[in-house]
Amino acid sequence: MKRTKIIDVLKRTDFGAEVLVKGWVRTRRGSKSVSFIALNDGSTIKNVQIVADNEKFDEDLLKDITTGACISVTGTLVESQGSGQAVEVQATQIELLGACPADYPMQKKGQSFEYMRKYAHLRLRTNTFGAVFRIRHNMAMAIHRYFHEHGFCYFNTPIITASDAEGAGEMFQVTTLDLARTGKEEKVPYDRDFFGKKASLTVSGQLEGELGATALGAIYTFGPTFRAENSNTPRHLAEFWMIEPEVAFMDQTELMDLEEDFIKYCVQWALDYCMDDLEFLNKMIDKNLIATLQSVVKEDFVRLTYAEGLQILEEAVKKGQKFEFPITGWGMDLSSEHERYLVETHFQRPVIMTNYPSEIKAFYMKKNEDGKTMQGTDVLFPRIGEIIGGSVREENYEKLVGEIEARGMEEKDYGWYLDTRKYGSCPHAGFGLGFERLILFVTGMQNIRDVIPFPRTPKSAEF
Ligand code: ATP
Ligand code: MG
Ligand code: MG
Ligand code: MG
Repeated sequence: MKRTKIIDVLKRTDFGAEVLVKGWVRTRRGSKSVSFIALNDGSTIKNVQIVADNEKFDEDLLKDITTGACISVTGTLVESQGSGQAVEVQATQIELLGACPADYPMQKKGQSFEYMRKYAHLRLRTNTFGAVFRIRHNMAMAIHRYFHEHGFCYFNTPIITASDAEGAGEMFQVTTLDLARTGKEEKVPYDRDFFGKKASLTVSGQLEGELGATALGAIYTFGPTFRAENSNTPRHLAEFWMIEPEVAFMDQTELMDLEEDFIKYCVQWALDYCMDDLEFLNKMIDKNLIATLQSVVKEDFVRLTYAEGLQILEEAVKKGQKFEFPITGWGMDLSSEHERYLVETHFQRPVIMTNYPSEIKAFYMKKNEDGKTMQGTDVLFPRIGEIIGGSVREENYEKLVGEIEARGMEEKDYGWYLDTRKYGSCPHAGFGLGFERLILFVTGMQNIRDVIPFPRTPKSAEF
């Protein structure tokens, strides 16, 4: 007999039919004569209730049906009287596929997220992480759908690269070990190394993405990104996933429109396709989650310049607002507490901030006429701070070379990049969205380590 997924069993109404379900026991309760088993197979947050008359089953088997055990159940689909679901399964046959001893680390309800991080391999089986990772999957689908529907090409940029796109020195180097030659784990000097030069894991696919956009018109990347972040924050990972659309002939206003439309589409997708999981998270994690998501898709994002944002922050300080990092005036990089103040307290809406001072942004951004600001367009979100970093790119060859030199970077390292400006240069713009920051927002989770299956952070690379 073919197994039916629990998500499908719960939709059936052909009572009396025989069904086969398999999954992990969430709980078992009951009396001497009857057992009620809540069974989950990961296809939905919901459990199907299995009803078993104890006398029909072996006593040892019943003893083994504990939280976490894996079982296979054949039974009759019946209309449920009171399990909270419309249907339940009256068991005729139960097979134990995998017992679960009492030292199962996910045994207890309500364990802290910090505790569960130590068991990233087992936390996946809890309700919360099931909900988070189903939503994560759905967001990936939404992203591909959005770009496909809008005529973007999915474009793969290299993971191993020689360019530091952000110039922030946060790259992990890729080297080979000289085991074969010397038998010892020695680093090979770069000139003799596999690639013959210094190679690193990508911090952003943007520069290569620009090559795609200036040929295919509109592309997006969606891949793993690596940054040797020293910061131990709830919003930074050493390995995260980034979505980077890049579009030819796009100006700053169109870029802001794209950023806003894209995020709203993803959030609306979650509301349309992940309601069961969202309702669970709304109950367990954040009582305002669904209301927040609904308001984000409805309201226009605030658009303001860095100068205006700074002024608001300075006035707040005058009125007694305390920040951990002081507001030091023009040229300061805003920290997430400043960004969140603007979004959560001042505007109570997402903000797109533009025209940042050149010195705090990357070399590739287009300078404004004033010579001191750049056409950056970051999106700031409640609970998150920066969720998107975007900009119009400098398309003028001389200006770009000037910026590279002024920053002490090597022009020769960017020959291929500069070729896009040398040969048929075109205005273009794009942004980077941190996938996990989007998942943080959509799930209401607090720590970025809890929205990626196997988090990589300083001093932590299990599995
Ligand atoms: P932050 O200021 O938060 O460090 P950033 O300005 O360094 O971010 P960008 O280089 O603009 O980040 O990258 C684009 C997007 O990638 C960011 O807006 C953010 O959503 C995401 N991102 C950046 N660094 C990380 C990280 N270490 N972990 C997870 N997401 C990240
Ligand atoms: Mg950073
Ligand atoms: Mg930033
Ligand atoms: Mg940024």
